[in-house]
Amino acid sequence: MAGEVLTILVIDDEESMRDSCSQIFLKDGFRAETAENGEVGLKKIEELHPHLVLVDLKMAGLSGFEVLERGLQLDKDLVFVVITGYATVESAVEAMKKGAYDFLPKPFSPEELRMIIRRGLERRLLLLETKALRREKKLMEENFVTMVSHQLRSPLAAIEQYFEVLLAGMVAPLDAGVKEMLTRAEERLAGLLQLINDWLDLSRLGQVRTTDAMKPVALRPLLGRLTEFWRPAAAKSGVTLSLRKTIGSDRAWGDEQSLEQIFSNLLSNAVKYNRPGGTVALAVREEVAAVAVEIRDTGVGIPAEHMPRLFDPFFRVKRTEDREEKGTGLGLPIAKKIAESHGGRIEVESKEGRGSTFTVFLPKEKKETDH
Ligand code: ADP
Repeated sequence: MAGEVLTILVIDDEESMRDSCSQIFLKDGFRAETAENGEVGLKKIEELHPHLVLVDLKMAGLSGFEVLERGLQLDKDLVFVVITGYATVESAVEAMKKGAYDFLPKPFSPEELRMIIRRGLERRLLLLETKALRREKKLMEENFVTMVSHQLRSPLAAIEQYFEVLLAGMVAPLDAGVKEMLTRAEERLAGLLQLINDWLDLSRLGQVRTTDAMKPVALRPLLGRLTEFWRPAAAKSGVTLSLRKTIGSDRAWGDEQSLEQIFSNLLSNAVKYNRPGGTVALAVREEVAAVAVEIRDTGVGIPAEHMPRLFDPFFRVKRTEDREEKGTGLGLPIAKKIAESHGGRIEVESKEGRGSTFTVFLPKEKKETDH
């Protein structure tokens, strides 16, 4: 933006006004363009892409209001300053409501004009800069996702395979000490790969729209499968899983695979942050505007002070060392993002030392706004 000459377009049917304003702008180092009526003005907006437009509200032919409205349709970030007649506050207010940045009541001094124009141009430059930064941020994020998946994940996956071969004793017999160390190294590597995969999931969730795969999904069979899948692992930690009776319909509108990921993340947490002898109960109930899935555990619970950050990426509750569980801190943000992309939400209630209940609310049917 530095060094660029800024263009100001003056639209007014009074020649003297056009001339005096242009002279001031030229003197201040701007490029000044003029239009003697609204039609010409709109054409020049399209051709010249001015940084700011100064327009008289009261003109023969197209009024300043119409120029304002149509100009903003051409470029919604265009900064308009409107010139209003003496003591016509109402029209100034109306112009501001229609999207004008500021107004200048007639008569005005060159200094008043300069001050308002300078402020308007600063605004325009800020808008342009924000747009450019957003574009750059998006590009950086996309590049970063590509970098992580290729440069980071691929070599790690290859190393993991070498470990598998080594640990299977295919290269040489391993003595117990070496084997234990390799096993630990492989576990840490698996944790790192999980983190990268989760992080990639989370980043991609922001980009891909799931609407293509949306259809009615029966939640009870899905939860039944998940419960059976997690039952053996839960049993190993002394945790019992149960699926309660469904109240009403179990139908939700969504992408089955994504919904499965929500429940899988929540169910695995309910098992992981549980205690021997504990339980996890799943239940589906139909509500007026949603279908709700409740995952209630009798586990360690979440301290109240951590609740506000629970769904933040990488957030993990610090626990004493013997209770430290493996994890990435991405399970909940992924679940939240999926629920929200379905037009749903997740609510949590928890008592430290007593247990937690996560409730997922999902739409029952296709919304009008879906494609
Ligand atoms: P991870 O489990 O990989 O750490 P999550 O995003 O799934 O990441 O969860 C974030 C944190 O929230 C966990 O570290 C855990 O401390 C807490 N948490 C999640 N679910 C439960 C639960 N059912 N009971 C107790 N704490 C939980």
